[in-house]
Amino acid sequence: MNIRTQLTLRYIGIVLLVLFAMYLYLSAMLKDSMSTRITRELETQAALTAEFLIEKLPTQNNFTYHAIDSLVDRLGKTSDARLTFIGADGTVWGDTERDSTALRAMDSHLTRPEVQDALQFGSGIRDRYSDTTQTEFRYYAMPIYRDASPQASSDEKKTLIGICRVAMPMEIVNTAISNLRQILLFASVAGLILTIVFSVFSTKIITKPIEKLTQMTQSVAAGNIDSRVPVDSKNELGQLSQNFNLMTDRVQEQIDKISEEHRRLETILTDMGEGVLLVNGAFEITYANSMAISMLSLPDVYVGKALIEINRIPELQTLLQAAEQTETVAFAEIRLGNLTEPEAEVTVVPVSTGEEYVIVIHDVTKERQLERIRADFVANVSHELRTPLTTIQGYAETLLNEDTPRSKTSEQFIVKILNHSSRLSRLISELLELSRLESGDVELKRTRCHLNTFHEPILEVFEPLLEESALVLKWEIPENLPEVSVDQQLFMQVLVNLIDNAIKYTPDSGIITVSAEINTSETFEGINIASKEIIMCVQDTGIGIPMESQQRVFERFYRVDQGRAREMGGTGLGLAITKHIVLRHNGRIWLESSLGKGSVFHVAIPL
Ligand code: ADP
Repeated sequence: MNIRTQLTLRYIGIVLLVLFAMYLYLSAMLKDSMSTRITRELETQAALTAEFLIEKLPTQNNFTYHAIDSLVDRLGKTSDARLTFIGADGTVWGDTERDSTALRAMDSHLTRPEVQDALQFGSGIRDRYSDTTQTEFRYYAMPIYRDASPQASSDEKKTLIGICRVAMPMEIVNTAISNLRQILLFASVAGLILTIVFSVFSTKIITKPIEKLTQMTQSVAAGNIDSRVPVDSKNELGQLSQNFNLMTDRVQEQIDKISEEHRRLETILTDMGEGVLLVNGAFEITYANSMAISMLSLPDVYVGKALIEINRIPELQTLLQAAEQTETVAFAEIRLGNLTEPEAEVTVVPVSTGEEYVIVIHDVTKERQLERIRADFVANVSHELRTPLTTIQGYAETLLNEDTPRSKTSEQFIVKILNHSSRLSRLISELLELSRLESGDVELKRTRCHLNTFHEPILEVFEPLLEESALVLKWEIPENLPEVSVDQQLFMQVLVNLIDNAIKYTPDSGIITVSAEINTSETFEGINIASKEIIMCVQDTGIGIPMESQQRVFERFYRVDQGRAREMGGTGLGLAITKHIVLRHNGRIWLESSLGKGSVFHVAIPL
């Protein structure tokens, strides 16, 4: 049922209710007032009739039907009421509705209730159905007395002549009420018609803007966001329309903004060098940018397909599972295809855990190729330099060992040549070592050993140096530490490099401490550690490394102080080699240092 019908029905209901209430009230009022009027009229009429009859009736009570009836009839002509005169014994002597013959047949009226009341209380009033006239009447009766002689006692003074009764049909009350009903019925019909006509027009005025608003909201809901409602009034509906238009404007603005953002994002995603994929909780693709499509060779229809079904790369699936389990970013280097296919750095970011993941694929094939070319170049150059350098070193040594007399300057030159060529030789060796480690050509010869195995050889290497600089080496590795599985030669190099640096960069009478402990925590700096590990520390009381250089010391040829490092005879490759050896053992290396106080190098080797 629409709002218009509802309003019309409500109006009709109200009008009918008002008319019905009016009818009930008016009919009650009318009945009451007419009844009172009839009673008054009956009382007046009765009083007049009584007066008249006292005067006219024969004094000796020698009544005859004819004389009394004609007297009553004469009196009755002056009003609409029915007049009856009843004798003191109940005989009806006169009645306006009966002739004298009929009167004789009438029964005694002394038993009539109004007559009884009149005799008992001085007057009697009753509404009764009259057998004589077959209609409802209101009867009013009062006794008529005649005064006795002046000498009589007060009780004897009054003599009952008879009872005067006046009656009026109650029909007029009913007729008046039925007339009123008819008037009200007519008013109801007229009111109803008027209400319908009025409500049709008035509800139209009210509902028209609502209908428009409804149409408009439907249109907006259907996606026509441009739809607006005309605002033709300033009332609440007008305000509602205005507010709705404002609201739609805002929605439109937001949609425009989001569309713009979407377009921008789409352009970025399409043109970016990285492949971007979105997968849902079941690892089914929901989005892929063009780069991802080409990188993973996705088919035309890929949306909704499981990633593993389209591109069988188990590592990718494992990475997704890792991100799902840890609820954090997962990263891995993955070979995307078979053999010569691109290498990639893949990052899986959970957007909402268990529901959506973003996969970013960064193709590092070119970088790796360049890296390989660079490493090959360095290896080749080093190799090529080694032969002439060995020759130079050989000749210089021969010259120095010759017994031929020469100037002091020549000798100094030869020594310098020897020193520099041996430094160059060391550099070349280290470069080649680094290249071998980087290329992955070095095969680890892992053996199980306790870290204390390295104590003796380390002392052998560094004892003279330590003594020279008056440094103390404290070896504090507990005996009960588990053994580690390492390539002993390479691990020795790690220790040599770290202790050598500690000696180089610690002033005289400093302390160098080598310690180790087992690490049982499951995470390190937020990263999951698969298994337990041993953390070995080389601590010194040296010059320390400034904050900004701490991350960079593991880069090749990086030195905090170029001049000082060179003076110390360093190549700038020691820590780069150390880092690579540790990485080859799946370990981690990091440092803590404060300027002027010393440094601690930590090496973690998984057990
Ligand atoms: P180098 O052969 O020059 O020592 P490294 O790769 O071993 O090369 O070290 C890189 C740089 O890191 C050094 O030049 C030095 O500045 C700094 N460094 C390394 N170890 C320490 C240390 N224990 N104390 C202070 N500085 C250090």
